Amino acid sequence: MNEHKVMIGLEVHAQLTSLKSKLFCSCPADYRELQPNTAVCDVCLGLPGSLPRLNGRAVEEVLKIALALHSKPAEKTLFYRKHYFYPDMAKNFQISQYDRGGGVTIASGGYMDFNLGQDVKRVRIRRVQLEEDVAKIVYPSSLMTSDYVLVDYNRAGVALCEMVTEPDISSPREARLFIEKYSSILEHLGVTDTDLEGSLRVDANVSIDGGERVELKNINSPKDVEKALNYEVQRQAMIVERGGKIEMQTRHWDEVNKVTVAPRFKEEEEDYRYFPEPDLPPIRIDPNTLKRLAAQLPELPDQRAERFIRQYGLTAYQASVLVSDKHLADCYERSVQAGLKAGDAADWFMNEVLGDLSDAKKGTKDLIALTDDVIKVVEMVQRNEITGKMGKRLLKQLIIGGRLPEEVPRPIRDEETLRQLVAEVIRDNPDVYEKAKTDPNAINFLIGQVMKKTRGTADPQKILDLVRAALSAV
Ligand code: ADP
Ligand code: MG
Ligand code: ZN
Repeated sequence: MNEHKVMIGLEVHAQLTSLKSKLFCSCPADYRELQPNTAVCDVCLGLPGSLPRLNGRAVEEVLKIALALHSKPAEKTLFYRKHYFYPDMAKNFQISQYDRGGGVTIASGGYMDFNLGQDVKRVRIRRVQLEEDVAKIVYPSSLMTSDYVLVDYNRAGVALCEMVTEPDISSPREARLFIEKYSSILEHLGVTDTDLEGSLRVDANVSIDGGERVELKNINSPKDVEKALNYEVQRQAMIVERGGKIEMQTRHWDEVNKVTVAPRFKEEEEDYRYFPEPDLPPIRIDPNTLKRLAAQLPELPDQRAERFIRQYGLTAYQASVLVSDKHLADCYERSVQAGLKAGDAADWFMNEVLGDLSDAKKGTKDLIALTDDVIKVVEMVQRNEITGKMGKRLLKQLIIGGRLPEEVPRPIRDEETLRQLVAEVIRDNPDVYEKAKTDPNAINFLIGQVMKKTRGTADPQKILDLVRAALSAV
């Protein structure tokens, strides 16, 4: 495939999972454990005569997000009806916001920085808005093969923050890093538990070589955003390279089959017939509320990274990787507070723990319960009680199996025991012993054999000294 100039803009929907009730009614916002269609009322089902009432805390939560993104809050903001005909919204419109034709969203402008290797990339934010979630459509098999769907209205009306970027992202990988960083900001703010299934959903717009953009709808994880965009960039590149033209289009990400598919009907902007929601008055955003929220903002990932550099002597790169996930950063800090050497512990978390979690198909949330044992293992290595290699093996066992082995090998420190082991190995390998008098490889072999007998717990330098002593004793 030739090189193509890729332009990506994201629309990221985050459920405000910190809220107890939905955006316009008092139905519970936490629908995940409930039986389908039990957390509903006349308002979120859109029954005739029902009236929405705004959940004030939802506005504050979105304002916090706006402040964290350097986005400018409006003085006055409005809700709009976005019309469409689809079973996921019983009233045939979604209460949302609009930034054209007199519409004003809660906040506009702003930016978010994220680390790209050694560089820092800035993506401009277009707007931040508040809207209601829609019902969940359940596909019994996959998006393409199901011949019927199930609809669960429990999710309809849950508060969502939609954040829209400018098309400043230049690759699928950047898109993923951007979303991971944004997700970490939401976690630090405490507005969204991004580990909950479906709490963060992305529409990704992508074009190549200045052509028309395609919108990929409803992708559920940063990893899948990268995959979907990679697929779509290749699809577009193939069309362009064959002399074809990209049509402006909405496609859906089929997460079972890992392909993007064209929808069954066309949606166009005009079809939405946006107009101001007559049942909700405009909201004035009180400057005092803004001041209070700004003063109460918790430490955010960028500030936390700076503190990690200052307080723990980490490199900018180490700090940025750790803070790109709140659970990871929390577990790391816990390990330093427990007495681990900070720089070395950072390497253990970044190089071993993250890799083991991914091998075990676990997330950083699962790390919380394992951290005390992770600390134990790294502590043993840092105190030189076991080798780094042994430590890595133990961590892998811990993270994949969920616990440490009953009996963690006790380090052999006693010099006399080690001397005996060296003597045993020499006795069992007389030829190698002869060679070792001149050949360093043979020495290494002997050390390896002794290490094996100590189950990797001894200090290799100590054994080298003992082997040398044995060689020169003759
Ligand atoms: P709206 O959906 O409100 O009409 P736009 O269509 O301009 O707004 O943009 C929607 C999203 O598409 C934004 O995230 C924006 O960054 C992105 N986008 C706009 N133009 C392009 C483009 N040429 N290539 C990729 N993404 C784009
Ligand atoms: Mg849009
Ligand atoms: Zn309701």
